[in-house]
Amino acid sequence: MAVQTKAKYGRVVLKLSGEALLGDQKFGISPEYTRYLAEEIRKVRDLGVQVAVVIGGGNIIRGATIAEHGIEEATGHYMGMLAMVINALALQSQLESVGVPVRVQSAITIAEVAEPYIRRRAIHQLEKGSVVIFAAGTGNPFFTSDTAAALRAAEINADAILMGKNRVDGVYDADPQVVRGAKKYDELTYRDLLEKRLGVMDATAAALAEERGIPIIVFDISQPDAMVRAAKGEHIGTLVHSK
Ligand code: UDP
Repeated sequence: MAVQTKAKYGRVVLKLSGEALLGDQKFGISPEYTRYLAEEIRKVRDLGVQVAVVIGGGNIIRGATIAEHGIEEATGHYMGMLAMVINALALQSQLESVGVPVRVQSAITIAEVAEPYIRRRAIHQLEKGSVVIFAAGTGNPFFTSDTAAALRAAEINADAILMGKNRVDGVYDADPQVVRGAKKYDELTYRDLLEKRLGVMDATAAALAEERGIPIIVFDISQPDAMVRAAKGEHIGTLVHSK
């Protein structure tokens, strides 16, 4: 069904890293910043865009890092996925408090707090105007939330992946917070991203998006209205596509 919207993209997957919920904190969830994110998402939904969200868990736990300290690696990854469920619940609550209907669907069965992921149900909920948060990544260890975003985007036929970054306004040829004079790309092909190893998302996610032809817009989520502008198709951040 064609989506009626004033934006360029009718259905998007918004990818937020867990760090997006930190605000000014070093660990955990800032309820205030999470509310800001909820308001930004509301603006996109108000355009008539169907919004699905994938949030990472890096503000709480990263599987690979914790494994370096003696926790079995697969267990660390499952812990990471549970962190993503915690983040999803925080965003769900703040979205509801700004008046947005929202459902959380988890890739790991956790029935008392979230619905299971069911693709057709997710699409149905999006069509009815709810924001759908996909929690617990892919449900499989050794993957990342980037890959979960690309996978879900492919499954629900999303028109774009909006990749919200924290205080970085696109893809650069080097880390702009470390290298002075780092150059920002206005657009890139998936191939460039993979071959230059630009580190903005993992290779599995980029390869899947390339195969499905889903454009990725990398932008700074901390800039008010950036998400809405990205959804409208304004040229902000970096557009990753096939050209
Ligand atoms: N993870 C996983 N499978 C997935 C998605 C995530 O095992 O499909 C684990 C992995 O350990 C990862 C952690 O969950 O380190 C948190 O996700 P990620 O690091 O991608 O979050 P972000 O960096 O976006 O906050």
